[in-house]
Amino acid sequence: MQRAAELLRSATKAVVIGHIRPDADAIGSIGGMIIGLEKLGIPCQGLIGQTTPIPDNMLSIPRAETISCTETLPEADLVVIVDCGSIDRTGALAQQVAAHPNTLVLDHHASNTGFGNHNVVAKVESTTSLIAELFEEMGIELDVELAHALYAGLVTDTGSFRWGTSRMHLLAAKLMDTGLNVRIIGEELMDNTTVRDTRRIGAVLANLRTYTVGDIKVGVLVANHGVISTCSDAAVESLVDAVRALDGVELGVVLKENDPDIWSVSLRSTSMNVANIAVKLGGGGHIPAAGYTARGDRDRVLKELLANL
Ligand code: 5GP
Ligand code: MN
Repeated sequence: MQRAAELLRSATKAVVIGHIRPDADAIGSIGGMIIGLEKLGIPCQGLIGQTTPIPDNMLSIPRAETISCTETLPEADLVVIVDCGSIDRTGALAQQVAAHPNTLVLDHHASNTGFGNHNVVAKVESTTSLIAELFEEMGIELDVELAHALYAGLVTDTGSFRWGTSRMHLLAAKLMDTGLNVRIIGEELMDNTTVRDTRRIGAVLANLRTYTVGDIKVGVLVANHGVISTCSDAAVESLVDAVRALDGVELGVVLKENDPDIWSVSLRSTSMNVANIAVKLGGGGHIPAAGYTARGDRDRVLKELLANL
Protein backbone atom coordinates (compact mmCIF):
# COMPACT_ATOMS: atom_id res chain seq x y z
CA MET A 1 0.00 0.00 0.00
CA GLN A 2 2.87 2.37 0.85
CA ARG A 3 4.55 1.67 -2.47
CA ALA A 4 1.24 2.23 -4.27
CA ALA A 5 0.85 5.57 -2.48
CA GLU A 6 4.37 6.59 -3.55
CA LEU A 7 3.70 5.61 -7.15
CA LEU A 8 0.50 7.65 -7.26
CA ARG A 9 2.13 10.67 -5.63
CA SER A 10 5.07 10.67 -8.03
CA ALA A 11 2.99 10.31 -11.21
CA THR A 12 2.83 13.32 -13.54
CA LYS A 13 0.29 11.85 -15.96
CA ALA A 14 -1.68 8.73 -15.15
CA VAL A 15 -4.21 6.53 -16.88
CA VAL A 16 -6.58 4.22 -15.06
CA ILE A 17 -8.02 1.16 -16.77
CA GLY A 18 -11.00 -0.93 -15.66
CA HIS A 19 -12.13 -4.27 -17.05
CA ILE A 20 -13.98 -4.70 -20.31
CA ARG A 21 -17.74 -5.06 -20.06
CA PRO A 22 -17.35 -2.94 -16.94
CA ASP A 23 -19.48 -3.26 -13.83
CA ALA A 24 -20.05 -0.58 -11.21
CA ASP A 25 -16.92 -1.61 -9.27
CA ALA A 26 -14.78 -1.08 -12.37
CA ILE A 27 -16.38 2.28 -13.23
CA GLY A 28 -16.55 3.38 -9.57
CA SER A 29 -12.87 2.52 -9.14
CA ILE A 30 -11.93 4.52 -12.23
CA GLY A 31 -14.11 7.47 -11.18
CA GLY A 32 -12.69 7.33 -7.66
CA MET A 33 -9.08 7.22 -8.89
CA ILE A 34 -9.68 10.18 -11.21
CA ILE A 35 -11.21 12.26 -8.39
CA GLY A 36 -8.47 11.25 -5.91
CA LEU A 37 -5.70 12.15 -8.34
CA GLU A 38 -7.43 15.44 -9.20
CA LYS A 39 -7.10 16.30 -5.52
CA LEU A 40 -3.34 15.70 -5.83
CA GLY A 41 -3.22 17.81 -9.00
CA ILE A 42 -2.33 14.81 -11.18
CA PRO A 43 -4.11 14.52 -14.54
CA CYS A 44 -5.66 11.09 -15.05
CA GLN A 45 -7.60 9.63 -17.98
CA GLY A 46 -10.02 6.74 -17.41
CA LEU A 47 -10.08 3.97 -20.02
CA ILE A 48 -11.92 0.79 -20.97
CA GLY A 49 -10.25 -1.34 -23.66
CA GLN A 50 -13.28 -1.80 -25.89
CA THR A 51 -15.15 0.24 -28.49
CA THR A 52 -18.60 -0.52 -27.05
CA PRO A 53 -19.79 2.37 -24.87
CA ILE A 54 -20.27 2.09 -21.11
CA PRO A 55 -23.77 0.91 -20.04
CA ASP A 56 -26.21 3.79 -19.47
CA ASN A 57 -26.89 2.99 -15.81
CA MET A 58 -23.19 3.46 -14.99
CA LEU A 59 -23.10 6.99 -16.38
CA SER A 60 -24.62 8.06 -13.06
CA ILE A 61 -21.22 7.39 -11.41
CA PRO A 62 -19.06 10.55 -11.07
CA ARG A 63 -16.50 10.94 -13.92
CA ALA A 64 -17.97 7.94 -15.83
CA GLU A 65 -18.86 10.30 -18.68
CA THR A 66 -15.17 11.19 -19.09
CA ILE A 67 -14.02 7.57 -19.52
CA SER A 68 -12.80 6.79 -22.97
CA CYS A 69 -13.66 3.43 -24.60
CA THR A 70 -10.60 2.88 -26.75
CA GLU A 71 -8.08 0.46 -28.20
CA THR A 72 -5.13 2.86 -27.81
CA LEU A 73 -3.20 3.49 -24.61
CA PRO A 74 -2.38 7.21 -24.30
CA GLU A 75 1.08 8.24 -23.13
CA ALA A 76 1.39 8.19 -19.34
CA ASP A 77 4.11 7.59 -16.77
CA LEU A 78 1.82 5.46 -14.59
CA VAL A 79 -0.81 2.95 -15.66
CA VAL A 80 -3.22 1.94 -12.90
CA ILE A 81 -5.33 -1.15 -13.59
CA VAL A 82 -8.38 -1.56 -11.36
CA ASP A 83 -10.73 -4.50 -10.72
CA CYS A 84 -8.98 -6.74 -13.30
CA GLY A 85 -8.02 -10.26 -12.18
CA SER A 86 -5.87 -10.86 -15.26
CA ILE A 87 -4.38 -8.80 -18.07
CA ASP A 88 -6.84 -10.02 -20.72
CA ARG A 89 -9.52 -8.12 -18.78
CA THR A 90 -7.96 -4.88 -20.06
CA GLY A 91 -9.28 -5.99 -23.47
CA ALA A 92 -7.78 -4.30 -26.52
CA LEU A 93 -5.25 -2.50 -24.27
CA ALA A 94 -3.66 -5.75 -22.99
CA GLN A 95 -0.52 -5.76 -25.16
CA GLN A 96 0.18 -2.08 -24.59
CA VAL A 97 -0.32 -2.52 -20.83
CA ALA A 98 2.03 -5.53 -20.80
CA ALA A 99 4.72 -3.45 -22.54
CA HIS A 100 4.42 -0.47 -20.13
CA PRO A 101 7.23 -0.31 -17.54
CA ASN A 102 5.20 1.22 -14.69
CA THR A 103 1.91 -0.53 -14.03
CA LEU A 104 0.05 -0.67 -10.73
CA VAL A 105 -2.69 -3.28 -10.24
CA LEU A 106 -5.34 -2.58 -7.58
CA ASP A 107 -7.72 -5.50 -7.26
CA HIS A 108 -9.66 -7.90 -5.04
CA HIS A 109 -10.13 -11.03 -7.21
CA ALA A 110 -9.14 -14.38 -5.67
CA SER A 111 -7.85 -15.43 -9.10
CA ASN A 112 -5.58 -12.37 -9.61
CA THR A 113 -2.38 -13.38 -11.38
CA GLY A 114 -0.25 -10.40 -10.21
CA PHE A 115 0.33 -9.19 -13.76
CA GLY A 116 1.44 -5.63 -12.91
CA ASN A 117 4.89 -4.26 -12.13
CA HIS A 118 3.35 -3.47 -8.75
CA ASN A 119 0.34 -5.32 -7.38
CA VAL A 120 -1.96 -4.61 -4.46
CA VAL A 121 -4.46 -7.46 -4.32
CA ALA A 122 -6.51 -7.57 -1.15
CA LYS A 123 -9.28 -9.81 0.10
CA VAL A 124 -11.85 -7.02 0.41
CA GLU A 125 -15.42 -6.58 -0.73
CA SER A 126 -14.74 -4.36 -3.74
CA THR A 127 -11.87 -2.70 -5.53
CA THR A 128 -13.39 0.60 -4.41
CA SER A 129 -12.93 -0.58 -0.77
CA LEU A 130 -9.24 -1.04 -1.46
CA ILE A 131 -9.04 2.41 -3.05
CA ALA A 132 -10.85 3.93 -0.03
CA GLU A 133 -8.24 2.38 2.25
CA LEU A 134 -5.36 3.55 0.07
CA PHE A 135 -6.74 7.11 -0.10
CA GLU A 136 -7.23 7.16 3.66
CA GLU A 137 -3.57 6.22 4.14
CA MET A 138 -2.62 8.94 1.69
CA GLY A 139 -4.70 11.55 3.53
CA ILE A 140 -6.96 12.15 0.52
CA GLU A 141 -10.20 13.47 1.92
CA LEU A 142 -13.60 12.08 1.03
CA ASP A 143 -16.14 14.37 -0.53
CA VAL A 144 -19.61 13.52 -1.80
CA GLU A 145 -18.44 12.81 -5.38
CA LEU A 146 -15.55 10.58 -4.36
CA ALA A 147 -17.81 8.81 -1.87
CA HIS A 148 -20.45 8.27 -4.59
CA ALA A 149 -17.92 6.60 -6.92
CA LEU A 150 -16.56 4.36 -4.15
CA TYR A 151 -20.04 3.50 -2.88
CA ALA A 152 -21.14 2.40 -6.37
CA GLY A 153 -18.55 -0.41 -6.36
CA LEU A 154 -19.23 -1.32 -2.74
CA VAL A 155 -23.01 -1.60 -3.00
CA THR A 156 -22.95 -3.69 -6.19
CA ASP A 157 -20.03 -6.02 -5.37
CA THR A 158 -21.63 -6.89 -2.02
CA GLY A 159 -25.02 -7.64 -3.60
CA SER A 160 -26.43 -4.61 -1.77
CA PHE A 161 -24.64 -5.56 1.47
CA ARG A 162 -25.79 -9.17 1.45
CA TRP A 163 -22.27 -10.66 1.53
CA GLY A 164 -18.98 -9.39 2.94
CA THR A 165 -17.65 -8.62 6.39
CA SER A 166 -18.68 -5.91 8.84
CA ARG A 167 -16.00 -3.77 7.18
CA MET A 168 -18.42 -3.07 4.32
CA HIS A 169 -20.88 -1.43 6.69
CA LEU A 170 -18.17 0.62 8.37
CA LEU A 171 -17.04 1.91 4.98
CA ALA A 172 -20.64 2.53 3.86
CA ALA A 173 -21.19 4.60 7.02
CA LYS A 174 -18.14 6.75 6.29
CA LEU A 175 -19.20 7.25 2.67
CA MET A 176 -22.82 8.04 3.61
CA ASP A 177 -21.66 10.63 6.12
CA THR A 178 -20.44 12.82 3.26
CA GLY A 179 -24.13 13.31 2.37
CA LEU A 180 -24.71 10.54 -0.19
CA ASN A 181 -28.26 9.90 -1.34
CA VAL A 182 -27.96 6.10 -1.33
CA ARG A 183 -31.57 5.60 -2.33
CA ILE A 184 -31.13 7.49 -5.60
CA ILE A 185 -27.71 5.91 -6.25
CA GLY A 186 -29.20 2.43 -5.83
CA GLU A 187 -32.14 3.23 -8.11
CA GLU A 188 -29.95 4.67 -10.85
CA LEU A 189 -27.47 1.81 -10.74
CA MET A 190 -29.66 -1.23 -10.14
CA ASP A 191 -33.42 -0.65 -10.24
CA ASN A 192 -34.34 1.61 -13.17
CA THR A 193 -35.77 -0.45 -16.00
CA THR A 194 -38.53 -0.37 -18.63
CA VAL A 195 -41.74 -2.28 -19.22
CA ARG A 196 -40.27 -3.70 -22.46
CA ASP A 197 -37.09 -4.94 -20.78
CA THR A 198 -39.06 -6.44 -17.90
CA ARG A 199 -41.17 -8.47 -20.36
CA ARG A 200 -38.13 -9.67 -22.30
CA ILE A 201 -36.30 -10.63 -19.13
CA GLY A 202 -39.46 -12.42 -18.00
CA ALA A 203 -39.35 -14.56 -21.15
CA VAL A 204 -35.73 -15.52 -20.45
CA LEU A 205 -36.63 -16.45 -16.86
CA ALA A 206 -39.56 -18.56 -18.06
CA ASN A 207 -37.05 -20.64 -20.06
CA LEU A 208 -34.90 -21.60 -17.06
CA ARG A 209 -33.50 -25.11 -17.60
CA THR A 210 -31.88 -27.48 -15.13
CA TYR A 211 -29.27 -30.17 -15.76
CA THR A 212 -27.76 -32.82 -13.51
CA VAL A 213 -24.07 -33.76 -13.61
CA GLY A 214 -23.21 -36.49 -11.07
CA ASP A 215 -24.80 -35.10 -7.93
CA ILE A 216 -24.55 -31.46 -9.03
CA LYS A 217 -27.73 -29.75 -10.16
CA VAL A 218 -27.20 -26.82 -12.50
CA GLY A 219 -29.71 -24.04 -13.32
CA VAL A 220 -29.17 -22.29 -16.65
CA LEU A 221 -30.62 -19.08 -18.13
CA VAL A 222 -29.85 -18.19 -21.73
CA ALA A 223 -29.90 -14.60 -23.02
CA ASN A 224 -29.26 -15.03 -26.73
CA HIS A 225 -27.98 -12.26 -28.99
CA GLY A 226 -31.54 -11.12 -29.75
CA VAL A 227 -32.14 -10.47 -26.06
CA ILE A 228 -28.72 -8.90 -25.48
CA SER A 229 -29.07 -6.49 -28.38
CA THR A 230 -32.55 -5.29 -27.37
CA CYS A 231 -32.35 -5.15 -23.56
CA SER A 232 -30.35 -2.73 -21.41
CA ASP A 233 -27.13 -4.07 -19.90
CA ALA A 234 -28.55 -3.53 -16.43
CA ALA A 235 -31.59 -5.70 -17.22
CA VAL A 236 -29.38 -8.49 -18.60
CA GLU A 237 -27.05 -8.30 -15.59
CA SER A 238 -30.05 -8.65 -13.26
CA LEU A 239 -30.66 -12.20 -14.59
CA VAL A 240 -27.90 -13.66 -12.48
CA ASP A 241 -29.79 -12.85 -9.29
CA ALA A 242 -32.47 -15.33 -10.34
CA VAL A 243 -30.04 -18.31 -10.40
CA ARG A 244 -27.84 -17.35 -7.46
CA ALA A 245 -29.75 -19.34 -4.85
CA LEU A 246 -32.28 -21.63 -6.50
CA ASP A 247 -33.57 -24.25 -4.12
CA GLY A 248 -31.85 -27.60 -4.77
CA VAL A 249 -29.50 -26.11 -7.39
CA GLU A 250 -25.77 -25.98 -6.59
CA LEU A 251 -24.63 -24.01 -9.61
CA GLY A 252 -26.41 -21.08 -11.27
CA VAL A 253 -25.36 -20.14 -14.81
CA VAL A 254 -26.26 -17.29 -17.16
CA LEU A 255 -25.15 -17.53 -20.79
CA LYS A 256 -25.05 -14.09 -22.44
CA GLU A 257 -24.48 -14.00 -26.19
CA ASN A 258 -22.81 -10.59 -26.49
CA ASP A 259 -21.98 -11.15 -30.16
CA PRO A 260 -23.22 -14.00 -32.34
CA ASP A 261 -21.58 -17.19 -30.95
CA ILE A 262 -19.51 -15.25 -28.37
CA TRP A 263 -20.81 -15.77 -24.86
CA SER A 264 -20.12 -14.22 -21.47
CA VAL A 265 -20.77 -16.95 -18.95
CA SER A 266 -21.66 -16.01 -15.36
CA LEU A 267 -21.31 -18.66 -12.63
CA ARG A 268 -22.79 -18.38 -9.13
CA SER A 269 -22.79 -20.84 -6.26
CA THR A 270 -23.14 -20.89 -2.51
CA SER A 271 -21.55 -24.37 -2.17
CA MET A 272 -19.00 -24.74 -5.00
CA ASN A 273 -15.80 -22.84 -5.84
CA VAL A 274 -16.83 -21.35 -9.18
CA ALA A 275 -13.60 -19.32 -9.52
CA ASN A 276 -11.84 -22.67 -10.10
CA ILE A 277 -14.30 -23.66 -12.82
CA ALA A 278 -14.00 -20.24 -14.50
CA VAL A 279 -10.18 -20.32 -14.42
CA LYS A 280 -10.24 -23.80 -15.99
CA LEU A 281 -12.30 -22.36 -18.84
CA GLY A 282 -10.06 -19.30 -19.32
CA GLY A 283 -11.79 -16.82 -17.02
CA GLY A 284 -11.65 -15.90 -13.35
CA GLY A 285 -13.45 -14.24 -10.48
CA HIS A 286 -14.37 -14.89 -6.88
CA ILE A 287 -15.16 -18.20 -5.11
CA PRO A 288 -18.98 -17.67 -5.15
CA ALA A 289 -19.12 -15.54 -8.35
CA ALA A 290 -17.01 -15.95 -11.45
CA GLY A 291 -17.15 -15.88 -15.23
CA TYR A 292 -15.46 -16.59 -18.51
CA THR A 293 -15.88 -16.07 -22.24
CA ALA A 294 -16.85 -18.94 -24.53
CA ARG A 295 -17.30 -19.39 -28.27
CA GLY A 296 -19.66 -21.50 -30.34
CA ASP A 297 -23.36 -22.21 -30.33
CA ARG A 298 -25.35 -22.45 -27.14
CA ASP A 299 -25.26 -26.27 -27.00
CA ARG A 300 -21.49 -26.41 -27.44
CA VAL A 301 -20.91 -23.81 -24.71
CA LEU A 302 -23.24 -25.60 -22.31
CA LYS A 303 -21.69 -29.02 -23.07
CA GLU A 304 -18.18 -27.67 -22.46
CA LEU A 305 -19.24 -26.19 -19.11
CA LEU A 306 -21.02 -29.33 -17.90
CA ALA A 307 -18.02 -31.49 -18.93
CA ASN A 308 -15.75 -29.31 -16.75
CA LEU A 309 -17.69 -29.50 -13.47
P1 5GP B 1 -20.10 -11.58 -13.85
O1 5GP B 1 -20.66 -12.96 -13.85
O2 5GP B 1 -20.86 -10.69 -12.94
O3 5GP B 1 -19.86 -11.02 -15.20
O4 5GP B 1 -18.65 -11.73 -13.19
C1 5GP B 1 -18.45 -12.36 -11.97
C2 5GP B 1 -17.01 -12.30 -11.62
O5 5GP B 1 -16.23 -13.05 -12.56
C3 5GP B 1 -16.43 -10.90 -11.63
O6 5GP B 1 -15.57 -10.78 -10.53
C4 5GP B 1 -15.66 -10.82 -12.93
O7 5GP B 1 -14.56 -9.99 -12.80
C5 5GP B 1 -15.26 -12.25 -13.21
N1 5GP B 1 -15.35 -12.51 -14.65
C6 5GP B 1 -16.45 -12.49 -15.42
N2 5GP B 1 -16.17 -12.76 -16.71
C7 5GP B 1 -14.83 -12.95 -16.76
C8 5GP B 1 -13.91 -13.26 -17.82
O8 5GP B 1 -14.27 -13.40 -19.00
N3 5GP B 1 -12.60 -13.38 -17.48
C9 5GP B 1 -12.16 -13.22 -16.18
N4 5GP B 1 -10.85 -13.34 -15.93
N5 5GP B 1 -13.00 -12.93 -15.18
C10 5GP B 1 -14.32 -12.80 -15.45
MN1 MN C 1 -14.99 -5.92 -8.29
